[in-house]
Amino acid sequence: DEITDGFKEKTNISYELSKEAEKYMPGGVTANIKYFDPYPIFMKKGDGAYLYDADDNKYIDYLLSYGSLMLGHGHPEIINALETQMKEHGTVLFGTPHQLEIEMAKKLVNLYPSMDKIRYTNSGTEATLLAIRLSYAYTGKHKLAKFEGHYHGGYDQMLISVNPPVHEAGPESTPLSLIESKGVDPYHQEHTITLPFNNLEATAEILTKHQHELAAVILEPVQSGYIPTSEQFMTGLREITQQLGILLIFDEVKTGFRIGLGGAQSFYSVNPDLTTLGKVVGGGFPIGIVGGKEDIMMISAPSAFSDVFDNSHSSQSAAKEVLFHSGTYNGHPTILAAGMTTIAVLEQEMHHVMGKTAALKKGIHELFSRKGIPLQTVGIGSIFNIVITDQERISNYRELQTADFAWRKKLDFALLNEGIYTKPLNRCSMSTVHGDKEIALTLEAFEAALNKLT
Ligand code: PLP
Repeated sequence: DEITDGFKEKTNISYELSKEAEKYMPGGVTANIKYFDPYPIFMKKGDGAYLYDADDNKYIDYLLSYGSLMLGHGHPEIINALETQMKEHGTVLFGTPHQLEIEMAKKLVNLYPSMDKIRYTNSGTEATLLAIRLSYAYTGKHKLAKFEGHYHGGYDQMLISVNPPVHEAGPESTPLSLIESKGVDPYHQEHTITLPFNNLEATAEILTKHQHELAAVILEPVQSGYIPTSEQFMTGLREITQQLGILLIFDEVKTGFRIGLGGAQSFYSVNPDLTTLGKVVGGGFPIGIVGGKEDIMMISAPSAFSDVFDNSHSSQSAAKEVLFHSGTYNGHPTILAAGMTTIAVLEQEMHHVMGKTAALKKGIHELFSRKGIPLQTVGIGSIFNIVITDQERISNYRELQTADFAWRKKLDFALLNEGIYTKPLNRCSMSTVHGDKEIALTLEAFEAALNKLT
């Protein structure tokens, strides 16, 4: 209560709305991540770098819809692109192939060195599911390895050891695979092997032991968007997966267009076999993308198997040859228009976002050291997190768990009261419209919050 007193005073209407929402939706939310105690804030307007809540409080937005809004809210070029798409082409959706699908594909294949061909999906979750199915089809093996603490979407197969209780999770170098949700089929626990992030020796040992069952290793090249892979780990992981005949999947749903236009693979100069993208590339609308090497991606091409399609009397024999991938909204033209515009703006302004992120991190650091509070601003590119710790190194899930989350939560509520929005305990993302003025206001807000807490 002591933490949230000021918050409750300022957010009466959000409180009322949360009670109303609870009548119709479990927990009053449409995604569990949107909930926080004592109740989430209801927003009603976004404008550039700012959000306005139901009680008319104004916030600088560092959530940016979990990093998706790289151009902030209501960017005029996105609005213009949407209008043009709908007016000139007269529809929001064709349900057929269209030219913008090719333009976006060309752009992505040029920016992401490992992608020969791509397919569109409607979310990051769908993209990782498709990438995993491709890896199973290509290798003929049916197990997946993932890293402890890495998130790849909300489906059963990935809901293993995302946020496990450390005391139940086994030894650090051989973590157990723990189920993260009620209702997950234990089949997936048996078919998903959990690896220790940034620990090459232990990872290589586990992969070698399971090489004959493992189709792929999937990872967030920057865990949760802010804990980077070490160069040595990244290079070693690429080498060992290649040697063992296991595909390497980069889940770049967070890092794509955020640590550079060409994502983590360009930053590390490492080519995965498959890549997933989402978030930023949809310009704020739902999207997912899978890209990868020609011979893997072509398993989903109906044209490559036209003989089978033409000659077969039952679709059954065609289905045996081609990997199934479909979706009513795949390659949605309105969304691709927003995505193409986002990329065009980022091609001009990406380096500003990186510079502003570095400046804000530096400012926060200076402020905390003046107050004598140990902290790290962990992250690369345009995402970072504030980790309250006196540890020198935060390089994986277990090391992160040593941080002081209770104090961080106090800080988050103090910041909400000072007009800084991020979901409590979440990371901070920056946009092209977070300028010097917003950084100065943010640092003032941090100072006011720290004065109240110390
Ligand atoms: N993969 C990563 C790395 C993510 O960060 C997310 C979402 O946060 C997903 C996959 C799932 O994407 P979506 O929420 O669009 O299904």
